[in-house]
Amino acid sequence: MGVKDNLTSVKNRIRAACDKAGRTDDIQLVAVSKTFPVSSIYPALQAGQRLFGENRVQEAADKWPPLKEEFPDIELHLIGPLQTNKVSGAVKLFDCIQTLDRPKLVKALAKELARQEKTMSAYIQVNIGAEPQKAGIAISDFPAFLSLCRNVPELDIVGLMCIPPFGQDPQGYFDKLAQMARDYGLSNLSMGMSGDFEQAIQSGATHIRVGTAIFGKR
Ligand SMILES: *Cc1c(COP(=O)(O)O)cnc(C)c1O
Repeated sequence: MGVKDNLTSVKNRIRAACDKAGRTDDIQLVAVSKTFPVSSIYPALQAGQRLFGENRVQEAADKWPPLKEEFPDIELHLIGPLQTNKVSGAVKLFDCIQTLDRPKLVKALAKELARQEKTMSAYIQVNIGAEPQKAGIAISDFPAFLSLCRNVPELDIVGLMCIPPFGQDPQGYFDKLAQMARDYGLSNLSMGMSGDFEQAIQSGATHIRVGTAIFGKR
């Protein structure tokens, strides 16, 4: 199957998951095109997909500027870790950063957004499984970190993002992130990938990040 058919089948899976969860709101599908060339992205654009996720600033800068010229309503989200020395490029290219995870990054972003006279919507990435090697703010550090982020006028903190521990049932982690979002008045929840987005929708995901099921194996 090609990208266009894959997109259709992912959308059908989303609809079925919404029915099962009794949800009537729209789920935003972030098509994760990392590692795939423009020739794979193009069919998705032709099928009407406009929201995409990339995990590396340099790779995205190589692929997306001409596509953004051609399709001005493209919305590009950074879903991978952001190093402070890549902040300038990220601010130039991305419409949203889903991976705010440490004060140093927020300070660098605040400075760069002010310099480029821009504002940006962003998610805080939470290390929901408390995994030592994983990106994301620790749950215990979250309240102070959220306050810090909310004090940056150029940043609009719209929600939370997580990647649950690999190889475990993610449902409890998705529920936990959803509870945090409710507790702190955040409306968006970016969670769920190709293998588990139905469960994420069950727990209240507003944005799912799907790569493999659309573009194929990396
Ligand atoms: C690669 C990636 C995805 C997509 O994963 P698939 O299993 O290919 O759907 C989602 N979120 C993040 C943060 C990723 O890096």
